[in-house]
Amino acid sequence: MDKKTMTAQIRAFMIEKQGMDLFGVAPVSAFAAEPEGYRPNDILPPAKSVIVYGRRLLNGAVQAQFRRLEDKTKSAQSIYSTYGLELIPNWTMVLSTFYLTQYLETTFDAATQPLGCGPEQGGLPKKTALPMFAGPYKGGLPFNVTHAAIAAGLAQPGWNNFPVTKEFGPRVQFGCLLTDLELEYSEPDNGPRLCDPDKCHICSDKCPMNALPAKDSGKKTIWTIAGKDYEVAEHKVNACTVAALGMRSEFAGIVDRGDLVEGMDPTDEDIAAAMKKYPLSNSNLDHYPKNFCNRCQVYCPIGNWKETFKDTGLSKG
Ligand code: SF4
Ligand code: SF4
Repeated sequence: MDKKTMTAQIRAFMIEKQGMDLFGVAPVSAFAAEPEGYRPNDILPPAKSVIVYGRRLLNGAVQAQFRRLEDKTKSAQSIYSTYGLELIPNWTMVLSTFYLTQYLETTFDAATQPLGCGPEQGGLPKKTALPMFAGPYKGGLPFNVTHAAIAAGLAQPGWNNFPVTKEFGPRVQFGCLLTDLELEYSEPDNGPRLCDPDKCHICSDKCPMNALPAKDSGKKTIWTIAGKDYEVAEHKVNACTVAALGMRSEFAGIVDRGDLVEGMDPTDEDIAAAMKKYPLSNSNLDHYPKNFCNRCQVYCPIGNWKETFKDTGLSKG
C-alpha cells in the first residue's frame, strides 16, 4: 500500500473510530534537537514516523474551572480534574494509543511504540522532587508530545508553553506513538504566529505565581523543532507547581494542605520538602489531592475563546 493511502487509513481510524479532532504525522528527523534518550530512535531504533493526534477538552470541563476560579465553587474542581485534566483525558488517550498500536501491528505488521502522553501517566517520578507534569524531561515522560504536535503541524508554540491550535487554542490533549512505517508527513505550521506575546500577555497576567514571565522581561526559552527555533516563556516550573498542586492555602481546593512552600521562587529542595509533607488522599488516582491551576490554558484567547466562553457567559473573563 502506498504511504498516502496508508496515512489516510490511519487518520480515518483515529478521527472516526477514536474520536480525535486533530491528526498529523512528523518524520523522526524533526526531533534531532531533543535530548539524548528522548529522540524517537533512542526509544524505537527503526522508527521513521511519529504519529500525533489530539482531542479537544470538553467545553463543559473547561467551564467547570471557571466556576472554580471565578465563583470559588470548590466542588467544581473535581469536575475539571475528572473530565478536563486528569482522569478521562489521560485514560482515553492511553486507550486510544493502545488501540492504534494494536491496529498498526495487526493491519500493517508495523513495529510500533506507544508513548505515555499525559501529565499523570507513570505516577510521581522517582529521581526528581518534581511532580510528573513538571516538564517533559523531568518527570519520566519518554517523549515531548508538545514538540510532536508542533512538528506534525497541528499546533504552534504558545508563550504559555502549551501547543496552541487555531481550532481550540491550548485546550487540547495530545498523544503520539512511534512506528517504522514511512508515512505521508505534515509540515509544521510556520505561518503567522497564533500567539503574539508582544500584544497578548493574558497568560503572564493571570499567572498567580509569576511562573510565566511576560515577553518584555526577556526571560525566554528556545524550542528547536524540525530545525526551526521558537521562543516561548521561560516557565518557572517550581513556582507553577505550588499553584498547580495547591501547596499554599491561597490555592487550596476542598482540601487545604496549609502553607507548604513560601515565596514565589521555590527551589527543588523546597518542593521536595513540601512533597514529603503533602498528605495522601483516597480521592485521586495517584493519591495526591490537587488544585489544578491552568489559568494559562483556560484563559488563552486563541481558538474562539470569546465566542465559546465569554459570549456565552461561561466565563466572566
Ligand atoms: S498553571 Fe497556573 S501557576 Fe502554572 S504557569 Fe499556568 S497560570 Fe501559572
Ligand atoms: S494567553 Fe496570549 S500570550 Fe499567552 S499563550 Fe495565549 S495568546 Fe499567547
